[in-house]
Amino acid sequence: MSLVWFRRDLRLGDLPTLTAAAESGDPVLGLFVLDDRLLKPSGGPRKDFLFRSLEALNEQLDGRLMVVHGDPETVVPKVAKAIGTEDVHISADYGPYGRDRDKRVGEKVTLVETGSPYAIAPGRIAKSDGEPYKVFTPYSRQWLEHGWRGPADTSAKTVEWIDPDEVKGVRRAKIPTEKEASDAAAGEKAASKQWKEFLEEVSAYDDERNRPDLDSTSRMSVHLKYGTIHPRTMLADLGKLRSEGAASYRRQICWRDFYADILFQRPDSARENYVKKFDKIEIDSGKHADELFEAWCKGETGFPIVDAGMRQLNSEKWMHNRVRMIVASFLVKDLHLPWWRGARYFMQHLVDGDLANNQHGWQWTAGTGTDASPYFRVFNPITQGEKFDPTGDYVRRWVPELRGEEGKAVHTLKFGRPKEYPEPIVDHKHEREVAIARFKAL
Ligand code: FAD
Repeated sequence: MSLVWFRRDLRLGDLPTLTAAAESGDPVLGLFVLDDRLLKPSGGPRKDFLFRSLEALNEQLDGRLMVVHGDPETVVPKVAKAIGTEDVHISADYGPYGRDRDKRVGEKVTLVETGSPYAIAPGRIAKSDGEPYKVFTPYSRQWLEHGWRGPADTSAKTVEWIDPDEVKGVRRAKIPTEKEASDAAAGEKAASKQWKEFLEEVSAYDDERNRPDLDSTSRMSVHLKYGTIHPRTMLADLGKLRSEGAASYRRQICWRDFYADILFQRPDSARENYVKKFDKIEIDSGKHADELFEAWCKGETGFPIVDAGMRQLNSEKWMHNRVRMIVASFLVKDLHLPWWRGARYFMQHLVDGDLANNQHGWQWTAGTGTDASPYFRVFNPITQGEKFDPTGDYVRRWVPELRGEEGKAVHTLKFGRPKEYPEPIVDHKHEREVAIARFKAL
């Protein structure tokens, strides 16, 4: 008998772990462990998506996914023993918690690692002197040169799945449900459908990806996060296309690999500044700072694009990339709050919350991370709105108080500010100077 322990790979197609487990021809047991150490700090939307993806996987397996609740260090060896195997097939996890967990579990059973959630696994790409890259562009050149494997040819039909009812002595758990749900369709079939539909549009991606009003990005982030699709499958499809859109999309997949690599090299960067000199930067705290933070969370800052973004996050549990950058810059450089405060809020509310992408997306914007945007780059929320939401449709969609404003005047409110919409909580021009002065003082 073979054991596949599913984690961030909730699919059956293009799953090398499964090929490895099924190689011997033995029947395979599919296991998922509900681990409180991951679930407790996880935001509701992520849990909801995970649970719905587990339901979908279980359905694909005709109800034969074994779900147990507990510490993997105890339950994984127990399940392995119950089916008489010592080998547990996994796809590698490179996050700080996952690595530590796998080290502990690996002391009790043999973990057979095949593949990872990335096109090129963290640690594989290094400079000629063996040092890891710290800047995206040279990493991306090397990434393209290195290349990646084609999709693994796996099919559930060739595998004989073990019915968990036959596994004695292990208490099974039900797949839980979660109230704080998003509309993101979960599971492998949904991922594949969404990807195929997006591929039809990918040629426009490069031109339109910065336009939140057009909503023309793929929204595949949550599927990549939970492995309901593998980036290899996506890269193989993109490789058949010659458009600038396809090349641009490939670059985004590379960013994902890059940030996973950075977090792998520097696990401390999940909580601390990547560039240590920024530890000394002055940040605000106290009652007034808390009030500003609350206004930011609720989308009541009086800056239309910031409020639209935060309200999209609170409602859809997702936010457009350009707007993530704008609201993050606003929190750090206009409100002078620490990036990790905003990053934590994102992780609680985003359906695609991913430690590597989120913490490094924040650090990039804050200027404390790799490729850091320079200190003098302080996004102006009004001109950013005018440039990237030129129709104003994005703001009107998310801020009902401003639906009466026409075109891009919704960003400047030059014809007046509706009574029911808040006054700006800060003076951008002044706060920009404060931010620059604080960075300069370093
Ligand atoms: P698309 O534009 O369709 O991009 C395709 C895929 O490429 C994405 O699904 C994602 O996997 C990857 N990608 C795109 N942009 C980036 C990027 N800048 N960094 C790394 N990977 C990228 N992404 C997350 O997946 N989880 C997060 O928690 C997260 N938090 C972020 C926080 C901030 C402050 C910022 C600035 C960015 C963050 N990102 C995060 C990156 C990016 O915003 C999202 O990946 C993207 O908006 C997801 O939407 P999409 O799938 O439609 O993207």
